[in-house]
Amino acid sequence: EEATHSHHIVLLPPPGFLGHLIPFIELAKKLVSQYNFTVTLIIIPHDSEPQKSLLQGINPTTTNINSVFLPPVSIDDLPDDLNPDVLLPSRVIRSLPSLRHALSSLGTPATALVVDLFAVHAIDVAKQVGIPAYIFYVIAANELLLAIDLPKLNHDDHSVKLPGSIELNHEDLPDSVKDKNSEFRRWIVDLCSRYLLADGILVNSFLDLESEAFQELERRRPGIPPIYPLGPLIRTGLETESDRGTEILEWLNNQPPKSVLFVSFGSGGTLSVDQFSELGLGLELSGQRFVWVVRAPQENVSAAYLNAQKKDNGNKSKDPLEYLPPGFLERTKDRGLVVAGWAPQIQVLGHGSTGGFLTHCGWNSILESAIFGVPLIAWPLCFEHKMNAVFLTDGLKAAIRVKEINENGIVERGHVSEVVKQLMEGEEGKIIVKRMMDVKFAAANTLSQEGSSSKALAQVVRKWIN
Ligand code: UDP
Repeated sequence: EEATHSHHIVLLPPPGFLGHLIPFIELAKKLVSQYNFTVTLIIIPHDSEPQKSLLQGINPTTTNINSVFLPPVSIDDLPDDLNPDVLLPSRVIRSLPSLRHALSSLGTPATALVVDLFAVHAIDVAKQVGIPAYIFYVIAANELLLAIDLPKLNHDDHSVKLPGSIELNHEDLPDSVKDKNSEFRRWIVDLCSRYLLADGILVNSFLDLESEAFQELERRRPGIPPIYPLGPLIRTGLETESDRGTEILEWLNNQPPKSVLFVSFGSGGTLSVDQFSELGLGLELSGQRFVWVVRAPQENVSAAYLNAQKKDNGNKSKDPLEYLPPGFLERTKDRGLVVAGWAPQIQVLGHGSTGGFLTHCGWNSILESAIFGVPLIAWPLCFEHKMNAVFLTDGLKAAIRVKEINENGIVERGHVSEVVKQLMEGEEGKIIVKRMMDVKFAAANTLSQEGSSSKALAQVVRKWIN
C-alpha cells in the first residue's frame, strides 16, 4: 500500500542529541522512499553543529523531506548543569506555541505527528490540532518497559528484573531512575506517564533482538499503546566526513582481517584524566591493533555530553592528545591509530579489518554493531548505558563487560588489557563472535521484505493512510 503526497507525516526530533536525530532522519527517508509520504521535520533549534550538518545532508530536491525551523527559545534562566531529562523537555515545552502554529500552517495538513521521547509534551498539541500522535522511541525496548513501569519503582529498589530473567542491580539502573531528588522524580514520572497518551510507539529495535521485552510489552496491551518494532534504522547515505575519515579507512585497509579493536564512546562520551591515560596503557599492554577515538578528558560525563555538541564548547580548544601517556603514540604507532574527535563509525564497523568494538553502549552503536556483526566490549558511562551493558552481556551474551573498578573509580590497565585480549583472541571472544553472527543474520532478516520490522512499519503506515 502506498501513501500519496497528501499524506503528510510530521516528525519532531529532540532539540540536540545527535543519537536521536539520526534515526529520525532515517525514518523520514524510509517513509518517503518506500511509502511515498510527504515528510516534514520540525526542528527545535539548538546550538549544535552536528544538527546543522546532518540536516544539510538531506537534499530536499530529491527526497521530498522538508524541514521547518521553529524560532529559538531561551533557556538562559535555567541552571547550566541541568540534567538532559529536564533540559531537553524544557526546550520542547517552551516551543509548544510555535509548534502549534507551525502545525496549523503547513501547506499540506499533517496526517500524524511523530515525536521523540524527550518531546512527549507535544502530544497535547497534536490532540489540539486533531491528529494522532506517535512516539518514535529511538532506544531499547527494555528501557521503554522500565520507563512505563517507572511510577511503580522505588528509587531505592535494590534491583529490578528485566524480562528474560535479567537482573539489574541498583548501580546499573538508568541515571533518571536512580536520582533521589523528589522534584526530579516527579518530573520523570510525569514525562513517562505521557507515553501512555500516544496512539502508538515505534521502537528502533527489532523482535529478535529484544524478544522478551517486546513480549512483555505485548502482554501489557491494551493498557499501553500499540508497539511497533521497526529497527534497526542506522545512518545511511554516508559521506566520509573528512580527510581524517579517509585516512582511517586507508589505515584499516592495511591491517589483517578482523584484527582491529575500534574504541569509541559515542558522540559525546568522555573519561576522567586518569581513566583516559589508563585506558591507553591498557590498549598498549594488550598488544592488539586498535583505532581509538579520543576526546579531551572531563570529569562530569553527562554534562560533558551535551556540551560536546555545542559550537562554543570551550573544551574543544583542548587537545586530547596532550592527555595521552608520555611516548604512547610513538610506542603504538605500528598497530594503533589515535583519532581526535570523530571517526566514520559505520564505515569502520563495516570494514573487514575491524574485529571488535569497545563501546559506551549507546543504542545506535549497539544497532550498528548488530548490523555488521561486530563483537563488543561494554564500557558504559551514563544515562541508560549501564542497563544496555547488562542486556548485552547477561541477555544477548554478545559482549564482555569491563568490570573491575578500583577504589579510585578507575578501570586499571591490566584489566583493560585482559578484556581486550579475551575479546580479540580468547575463548570467550570466539563465543561472542558466534553470537554476534546470529544477531547480524537476524538483523538482516528483520529488514527483509517479509521481516518483522518491515511488517511493523507497513502496519503503522496502513493506520496512517486509512
Ligand atoms: N558516531 C560516529 N563517529 C564517532 C562517534 C559517533 O559516526 O566518532 C555516530 C555513531 O555511529 C552513532 C552515533 O554517532 O550513530 C552515536 O550514537 P549512540 O547512540 O551510539 O551514542 P550517543 O552519542 O547518542 O550516546
